[in-house]
Amino acid sequence: PMPLVAIIGRPNVGKSTLFNKILGVKTAIVDDVPGVTRDRNYADATYLDRKFRLVDTGGLDLSSSDGMLTLIRRQSELAIAEADILMFILDGRAGLTPPDHEVVKLLRGVTKPIFYVINKIDTPKAEPLIADFYQLGKSELHAVSAEHGIGVSELLDDLYPLL
Ligand code: GDP
Ligand code: MG
Repeated sequence: PMPLVAIIGRPNVGKSTLFNKILGVKTAIVDDVPGVTRDRNYADATYLDRKFRLVDTGGLDLSSSDGMLTLIRRQSELAIAEADILMFILDGRAGLTPPDHEVVKLLRGVTKPIFYVINKIDTPKAEPLIADFYQLGKSELHAVSAEHGIGVSELLDDLYPLL
């Protein structure tokens, strides 16, 4: 059975950009899962000799009357329950925001592997922006620029042993 890797985080942190970058750069898409190809929220991929299924969460449900925090909470809870491995994306430019803390709360006590990914670190000059996120108490933070493809292969290399 293929491990399910879920990309979670509040809107606008770059989840979909990272999803596409991971699928586009270093991995080969094996299959789009039937029925969800329209939004390409799921894709089966290989990295080197390992297969995994990547899930992009957080497409906004515009038909819902629930507030953003409720949507984030519900989508994150689903992903946390379903996934084998979680990639929690944060926006390095924005720093930690209240909706991020909402996800942090849900991740407390989760024993599945969680990658803390700080996105939008586009240049070396932006690297000090990572400091804000050490208050999460995680020893390992993964700095990436999903848009420019920086740090993405390193992220996949760190993911590889878990696949
Ligand atoms: P999602 O809502 O979490 O799926 O976020 P998106 O992938 O839709 O990205 C939200 C916005 O952030 C878009 O305008 C992206 O172009 C931008 N973005 C995503 N990744 C990066 C990045 O690495 N650097 C910068 N500067 N912008 C990014
Ligand atoms: Mg998205």
